[in-house]
Amino acid sequence: MENFVFYNPVKILFGKGQIANIAAEIPADAKILITYGGGSIKTNGVYDQVKSALAGRNVVEFGGIEPNPHLETLLKAVEIVRNEGIDFLLAVGGGSVLDGTKFIAAAVPFVGDPWDILAKNAPVKAAVPFGTVLTLPATGSEMNTNSVITKWETQEKLPFSSPLVFPRFSVLDPETTFSLPVRQISNGIVDAYVHVMEQYLTYPVNAPLQDRMAESILKTLIEEGPKTLANPQDYDARANVMWSATLALNGLIGAGVPQDWATHMIGHELTALHGLDHAQTLAIVLPSTLTIKRDRKWQKLLQYAQRVWGIVDGSEEARVTEAIAKTRNFFESVGVQTRLSDYGVGLDTIPVIIERFEKRGSVALGEYKDINSQIVEQILTLSA
Ligand code: NAP
Ligand code: FE
Repeated sequence: MENFVFYNPVKILFGKGQIANIAAEIPADAKILITYGGGSIKTNGVYDQVKSALAGRNVVEFGGIEPNPHLETLLKAVEIVRNEGIDFLLAVGGGSVLDGTKFIAAAVPFVGDPWDILAKNAPVKAAVPFGTVLTLPATGSEMNTNSVITKWETQEKLPFSSPLVFPRFSVLDPETTFSLPVRQISNGIVDAYVHVMEQYLTYPVNAPLQDRMAESILKTLIEEGPKTLANPQDYDARANVMWSATLALNGLIGAGVPQDWATHMIGHELTALHGLDHAQTLAIVLPSTLTIKRDRKWQKLLQYAQRVWGIVDGSEEARVTEAIAKTRNFFESVGVQTRLSDYGVGLDTIPVIIERFEKRGSVALGEYKDINSQIVEQILTLSA
């Protein structure tokens, strides 16, 4: 096992009715900014629950944060926080609202152009404290330090990470997810699944506990994911998927093991250029990445084949091939297509993506940092 530091201070309030308890988590004298997206929280009752939980508190609101949150929109919220003396943020929504709020939190005290936090890895030295009410299980943003922001003007989508943007608390009430459109449920299952794969499907470092935890999450998503699609009111299925998505990316399964993340980095380019949903890009890229990198991922692919998919017969070659095929089929079975052509994206996008990578520096993705421009090209060509 590799050395690691594990730190995760996020307090989780899990289960139905937990929104009612948020007031106790926010300092009594705080001026609060509630951040939200395009309005789903106003039609599914979540907004009303939040407002009644915060009755009598000093509350300001900022709505309109887009999926794949835009820098341009978030900077408007930064101005409000600065001008109105806000001292606590409450993000209510999916990963985009949470990620956007992390950026707002870090940008408010930042001296200089806040886009530098992403474009130049400028260090985050302070952040406004915030909590979250999650309405879409997928990203793990509710219990991690990551945020992905899109600069609309230049169509760049970049991540940043800082321990200062851990939420103080996150409410996970599975009932808030009952109103999700099928497409977003499907996306959430795939995003969480790929988060696990990015940390698990690398090479063995003799860390059987992390492996078993990762495999447990994958199997839970495979078993419970379809139930959430079949019956949107199945509370337990929703609860199991929600907790799986959180544990998929809260640092635990990734501690002490190598991590890949090439699929995410390539996927971000597809979203930035073509507007595909985050999970759609992952469903396209992951099967090709596993195929192109199969030799260096061989042992883990065999383990994955056996433990997650129960594949024990046939040659090693056949088992590896079948495990990758099962992965693709799973994504498609929950409703997320896995080919660029399914989304009308042609191979002419490949040189554009490579040029964008190269402009930002040398291309070195994956757990071995050996995925260069040529291999990105191979992966995307295989995704046609
Ligand atoms: P999202 O972009 O937050 O939301 C997608 C859509 O779902 C929105 O239109 C939203 O509507 C709607 N929605 C959310 N909750 C709903 C509910 N309960 N009922 C009905 N509609 C609801 O989706 P996401 O997949 O959670 O987040 C994707 C973003 O997270 C991407 O930018 C991705 O790159 C990023 N990401 C972050 C991490 C991380 O670690 N931080 C990891 C992976 C991906 P409204 O806008 O109207 O609410
Ligand atoms: Fe993701």
